[in-house]
Amino acid sequence: MDVAVFNTKPYDRRYLEAANTEGRHSFLFLEPHLSMETAVLAKGHAAVCVFVNDRLDAPVLTRLNDSGVSLIALRCAGFNNVDLSAAKALGLTVARVPAYSPHAVAEHTIALLLTLNRRIHRAYNRVREGNFALDGLIGFDLHGKTAGVVGTGKIGALVAGILQGFGCRVIAHDAYLNPACEAAGVEYVDFPTLCQESDVITLHCPLTPDTHHLINAEAIGRMKRGVMLVNTSRGAVIHTAAVLKGLKSGAIGAVALDVYEEEGDFFFEDLSNRYIGDDLFARLLTFPNVLITGHQAFLTDEALTAIAETTVGNITAFETTGKALFPVSVEKRG
Ligand code: NAD
Repeated sequence: MDVAVFNTKPYDRRYLEAANTEGRHSFLFLEPHLSMETAVLAKGHAAVCVFVNDRLDAPVLTRLNDSGVSLIALRCAGFNNVDLSAAKALGLTVARVPAYSPHAVAEHTIALLLTLNRRIHRAYNRVREGNFALDGLIGFDLHGKTAGVVGTGKIGALVAGILQGFGCRVIAHDAYLNPACEAAGVEYVDFPTLCQESDVITLHCPLTPDTHHLINAEAIGRMKRGVMLVNTSRGAVIHTAAVLKGLKSGAIGAVALDVYEEEGDFFFEDLSNRYIGDDLFARLLTFPNVLITGHQAFLTDEALTAIAETTVGNITAFETTGKALFPVSVEKRG
């Protein structure tokens, strides 16, 4: 099948080519994001392959459909960037990679948490400059602290287990109780209780209308003073302006983010020779107690291999049977 791959990075190309073992598909690797302006590049291709920050709204989907595209292969799990109703109306199949390596994201979450708590990011720079002073680097023992996990699906459950290994009391909030978490001693509580009792809160729910700005001024108002917040789920689960206010007042003690509400405007690009136009994001970067990575939690060899293999599997299945392996539709979201 002829596939136009948008938003291609060198590693996407490497892993997709390796997964295309039989050479059955022909990939056109394109650097631009998918947008109204770039959709025309898909002309003559039956499928497009896209990532988290490509926007697939109704006008873009219509343009793709007009260009002869019939399959949208997401090389990610989340599909909040796709207008599924519009896709259905146009008869487009949307497929995703429901699971690749939840370990990759869970381990990055813990890496952020530990780095931020023990100020490793600051210590690294200090030592390189011959500054061995320790003032400003005080952390806290995770052992004995209460960690609140929001969303105990594949990733949240792993994070809960790792935190239990550190000796944390782990509490969780989710509409669906995960039996494995319950059996391991995770206590399920309602969201306000999770906010009130946690020393560390880590977010692992999808972005939906229900979770949009879940961490807002009201939730922050309930949290313990000095709470640590970690978000590797989706940026808009947090109301960034409210978090900034919480950081300034000391209500929030530290924030680690792998995702940001408006990340689509600049994540995954090298903008080091330009300025950051997003004032809220730029302000966040000025805090010594804020640690941000650019949506890299998934970036392990195992995850990239699984993403590429499942994506190729989706495309092959669609080509041979008319159905993707992992379709996502407006009725059955995943
Ligand atoms: P999953 O579907 O296995 O688990 C999500 C859990 O969230 C489910 O148990 C669900 O019931 C729960 N949930 C839904 N609404 C909720 C709410 N309002 N409150 C509390 N819990 C709620 O998904 P997963 O594989 O564990 O991934 C979790 C999220 O992580 C994804 O949706 C995606 O946004 C994000 N993610 C980020 C990266 C990254 O690189 N940073 C990579 C993969 C996934």
